[in-house]
Amino acid sequence: MVNFKKARERMVEVQVMARGVHDERVLEAMRKVPRHLFVDEALRDQAYSDHPLPIAENQTISQPYIVGIMTASLQLRGGEKVLEIGTGSGYQTAVLGELADRVFSIERYPDLGYRANSVLRGLGYDNVIIRVGDGSLGWPDDAPFDGIIVTAGTPKIPQPLIDQLAKGGRLIVPVGDRTSQELILVERAPEAIRKTNLGGVRFVNLVGKWGWKE
Ligand code: SAM
Repeated sequence: MVNFKKARERMVEVQVMARGVHDERVLEAMRKVPRHLFVDEALRDQAYSDHPLPIAENQTISQPYIVGIMTASLQLRGGEKVLEIGTGSGYQTAVLGELADRVFSIERYPDLGYRANSVLRGLGYDNVIIRVGDGSLGWPDDAPFDGIIVTAGTPKIPQPLIDQLAKGGRLIVPVGDRTSQELILVERAPEAIRKTNLGGVRFVNLVGKWGWKE
């Protein structure tokens, strides 16, 4: 029987902190969120391992380190409104729910969205709202957002997401081909858009109007 709390602390220390994520709020959120509850029961023992895991619809829950680096890049301090594209299991959503004021998350597969919603409700994340649809269009009704995180790879940065980024806001998105991407951080300064490449990653495809075709 795995001691999940210990496994989680070790995951944060060895996989996230040791690789350079030092934002204490992010580390604390990852120590707290019970990642094993976001995967199938049969995979719970592997929930804190150093790799992604399969979820329904041929999708994945991202590797813990990737969740750490992407979350830290948003530099959340507690009062923000954040948009996530690609709810998947809901794990990243929960981490954001620990760190921001409100989280809006969009998933294209209804069953993933419903499942994630039920786990998040069960854990008491009432600052999170999930919608089923094409997240490449963003969430115009509640824009602008202080942070936007895209957890699927796209050939180019969807313009609606840039448009829905608040002044001073940060967008993190994997951009590249269908099998490998670069993690791009977009910062909306008052007069300009600044882009920084945070390194190579491998994500499932963002499928939608501003992403890949089916
Ligand atoms: N953040 C997730 C987690 O913690 O489990 C991992 C997400 S998984 C790597 C990427 C997700 O993006 C998949 O669930 C996929 O169905 C979803 N996705 C792909 N294209 C999408 C789109 N256009 N709109 C919304 N979700 C999309």
